[in-house]
Amino acid sequence: MIIHIPTLALVLCLLVLLQTIGTCSFLHRVRDVPGNRHFLYGSLLLVLATVLLLLRFWFESSRALVLLSNITLLAAIAALYVGVIRFAGRRVRVGLVASTGVLFILGMVYFTFVYDHMNIRVALYSAAFCVLTGSAGRELLFLKRAAYLRSLKAVGVFSIFCFAVSAARLAVALAGPPMRGITEPSASLIFTFLAAIASCVVWTFMIALTFHERAGIEKREAQERLKTIYEAIPEMVILTEYDTGVVVEANRRLYRKLGLPEEAVVGRKTTEIGFWNGEEDRLRFLDILRRRGKVDNHEILVRRKDGTTFTGLLSSRPLELGGVRHIISVFRDIDERKRMENELEKQAQTDALTGVFNRRHFLRSVRREISHSQETGGRLVFMMLDIDHFKRINDYYGHQLGDTVIRLVSQSIRSELRASDLLGRIGGEEFAILLVNADPAAGERIGENIRRKVESLEVYADTNTPVYITVSIGLTEYRPDKDDSVDTLIARADKALYKAKAAGRNSVVSLW
Ligand code: GH3
Ligand code: MG
Ligand code: MG
Repeated sequence: MIIHIPTLALVLCLLVLLQTIGTCSFLHRVRDVPGNRHFLYGSLLLVLATVLLLLRFWFESSRALVLLSNITLLAAIAALYVGVIRFAGRRVRVGLVASTGVLFILGMVYFTFVYDHMNIRVALYSAAFCVLTGSAGRELLFLKRAAYLRSLKAVGVFSIFCFAVSAARLAVALAGPPMRGITEPSASLIFTFLAAIASCVVWTFMIALTFHERAGIEKREAQERLKTIYEAIPEMVILTEYDTGVVVEANRRLYRKLGLPEEAVVGRKTTEIGFWNGEEDRLRFLDILRRRGKVDNHEILVRRKDGTTFTGLLSSRPLELGGVRHIISVFRDIDERKRMENELEKQAQTDALTGVFNRRHFLRSVRREISHSQETGGRLVFMMLDIDHFKRINDYYGHQLGDTVIRLVSQSIRSELRASDLLGRIGGEEFAILLVNADPAAGERIGENIRRKVESLEVYADTNTPVYITVSIGLTEYRPDKDDSVDTLIARADKALYKAKAAGRNSVVSLW
């Protein structure tokens, strides 16, 4: 079979070009890979070297071209060597590379211009290849730990293969028949080109393998990173398919909360594992997600395996995974928080001793009722109530009994009021009352009832010592025509109360 050397060279050149395009696109995507720049330079120099090689078929007599193509080729191999060693995270043997390069260039210059001998030139670059590929092979094959161990081992094997080919080529060049030029077909020359083409194909395969391994590692790392984040977040996390609602992944916090094992959650629809209070809830959620592109602080009802429910506060984002639309949601149980908020709100509004409204909340509620009555025309009666001679109760029987009395009085008042009436403790032993939708006659009746109820309280300091409790009440009506405000109501009721005290206490006095 006749093998046309220039055709082989052309095939090699095209292969190198294609491979370089592939390498560049790969390197472009993985910019952070160590040795990246050297791979790039090596690939480009390889293209240049094969182009120069091709030119040698046209300018056969140009010795400068011979020298340049050989030096470019070695520079390319040296750059790839550095790239591989750096990629493996090893230290580049700068001395080895530099001395090989210097000796190579000196030798090439001598055996091109002074003593033109092709066999020795071939022997020279074969020897230089042997040094670089042998060194790379040794480094890579004995690697114990590296980011891409599998690809690197493969590159190590490939380097040893190149080393063996170069060594064979070195032997043939030294012991074989003399070569006259690049255009003279000889077994050794054909072998060189075929080996170069094979190396080129295998090298491309190596890069593809590395790319594949890297993609695998990246995917695994991304999954691990996501999983770690899932588990580290102090909330429940769930990943579902957008269209079907099928659960793809969730964190342990969620499984524990639902009381279901992972197998009972993953692969099933959210509606089947207790999410949503029916399909409409899910559709409403999806509607918000579609309109706003996200969902924040959305309350949902979640049913646990044991049938109990809790309110979840959900935040969700859509995301595309493998071309399929998904939803990632993070949520927490807010029942406890709600309970505490309610508790705090209640505490902020009530008086600790009696449980009735405190001064601030009572006055605010009165203001609200006043503006409400302005709209509806409903009548309001306002009362101030003060325990008579309370200081004495404290002084004779102690503060503790005083507290008990305050509590009993507040209960007596409450028992005479409707649920819609307001009662507040606005001072030490002073209460204020707002009767909603009540006229003065009803107000006086209720005031009198309260007075009597307190009077009839049976309180004992000890078994033989009864404590007599009475209250004085000042009463007034809300008068929109007098431009009444909370302050004027209080002032008028206080005046009435003062009159009740002055009249001998234990009485109800009205002032309109
Ligand atoms: P009056 O009939 O004129 O109202 O006489 P009084 O003794 O009740 O006089 P006054 O209303 O001025 O006295 C209020 C007393 O209530 C003063 C204070 O020692 C007592 N007091 C205020 N807050 C509390 C409380 O929370 N617990 C107890 N045990 N006593 C309180
Ligand atoms: Mg008082
Ligand atoms: Mg008093």
